[in-house]
Amino acid sequence: MSPTEDRYQRLTSTPPGRFLSSRLGLPESTPLRRYEPGQSLLESPALIGGFAERRLLSTVERVLQSAGATALSDLPAEGSGSGKLGAVVFDASGITASEDLIALRDFFSPSINKIAASGRLIVLGTPPEHAADRRHHVAQRALEGFVRSAAKELRHGATGNLVYVAPGAEDDLESTLRFLLSSKSAYVSGQVVRVGTGESSSPKDWEKPQAGRIAAVTGASRGIGEAIARTLARDGAHVIVIDIPQQGEDLSRVANAIGGAALALDITADDAPAALAAYLQERHGGVDVVVHNAGITRDRTVARMKPERWEAVLEVNLSAQERLNDALLLGDLIGDGGRVVTVSSIGGIAGNRGQTNYGASKAGVIGIVETLAPELAQRGATINAVAPGFIETQMTASMPLFVREGGRRMNSLTQGGLPIDVAETIAWFASPASGGVNGNVVRVCGQSLIGA
Ligand code: NAD
Repeated sequence: MSPTEDRYQRLTSTPPGRFLSSRLGLPESTPLRRYEPGQSLLESPALIGGFAERRLLSTVERVLQSAGATALSDLPAEGSGSGKLGAVVFDASGITASEDLIALRDFFSPSINKIAASGRLIVLGTPPEHAADRRHHVAQRALEGFVRSAAKELRHGATGNLVYVAPGAEDDLESTLRFLLSSKSAYVSGQVVRVGTGESSSPKDWEKPQAGRIAAVTGASRGIGEAIARTLARDGAHVIVIDIPQQGEDLSRVANAIGGAALALDITADDAPAALAAYLQERHGGVDVVVHNAGITRDRTVARMKPERWEAVLEVNLSAQERLNDALLLGDLIGDGGRVVTVSSIGGIAGNRGQTNYGASKAGVIGIVETLAPELAQRGATINAVAPGFIETQMTASMPLFVREGGRRMNSLTQGGLPIDVAETIAWFASPASGGVNGNVVRVCGQSLIGA
């Protein structure tokens, strides 16, 4: 048994375990459907609907059709097929007043319990900041509370998310819709994504969106970084994996496994920005995808925090990343179609006792996204962040039992996520088709109750 295995989930997935846990009123924990190459987008039909103008529904229909999924505009009659729905999608962009929000109740009340295991609930709206007037803004803002609450009513590994699509960005929705509908978004729930107009290019092959592109991933010799490197390589990228020289052996193992290149580099070294910029310039003339994943923890309460613990965390997680971005931008190495993705944490959103240094660094990372998004948009590029919650890694496996069990169960999916869940979310941000996805922070946390 691997140290990161969820024994509770294994037990409650067996018929006697399921019986026992339901008798005792214990939470169910359904193994999530996860992506494998060639997998169909949905296992059962999608129910789609909307209110008034429905400006996004034609994109939804087109995406479902091109992915070979069936779209229904009415609930299937009782007794026809399994009656289960792979997804339920509602275009709420036409709701302009709070009285009309009842359309959500009318659509989801009869359909929510028909959502299949690992199924999807998706609401589409207009960003409140683009609303025509005050009442429109209020009605669209209300969608967040609806979706976050409905997501908590879903069972059996189903997820619920909201996508605000700016007027004119209807065609930029495809990559986000494909991600959220697919099992690639297994551990993403209760999130709000904003899609604007950007420079996107649809990949020739949605299974290889990174074909011909160069990606660089820091902290890639193990854990989440290794999963990111493997996922971007699966998607067709040539990946440069970066880690400290002490991790050289693992780094070569990952690079060899994915046909990529290993670059031993301590990102906090004085010459690291210049060294990385020179490497990318000389070998590839630039870089298409940069993933800032390297990160460390040095926990202590602030009263007991030694300066060196503070400095180590702030340097690796935040300041080094700022210097690398500056060097890459100054050297014009990230251009049209460029994607920068950075790894924050729910600790940077909600805060964690004993992690003032880590929390500061991970909130600072969100600041990097906020400040660089407009500048990168001007270059035809984007920057976004993932904020993982409890992810099953060697790090979380070494937590004391009760802390670990608390972290695992205190979310709507009642289980920890896997490194691949973070990696798939990063791969969606990194896609050339995600040009309209800029400035987002998306939690990969199974809708964790912490800071939710
Ligand atoms: P990990 O410790 O397994 O991997 C981090 C990697 O970064 C290591 O390979 C390490 O050698 C590398 N690294 C550290 N300092 C470096 C430096 N100066 N230069 C280059 N590389 C360096 O951790 P992980 O769990 O895979 O975490 C990856 C990222 O995800 C981190 O940013 C972490 O803060 C974040 N995160 C993890 C979790 C979780 O539950 N595991 C939750 C939230 C956020």
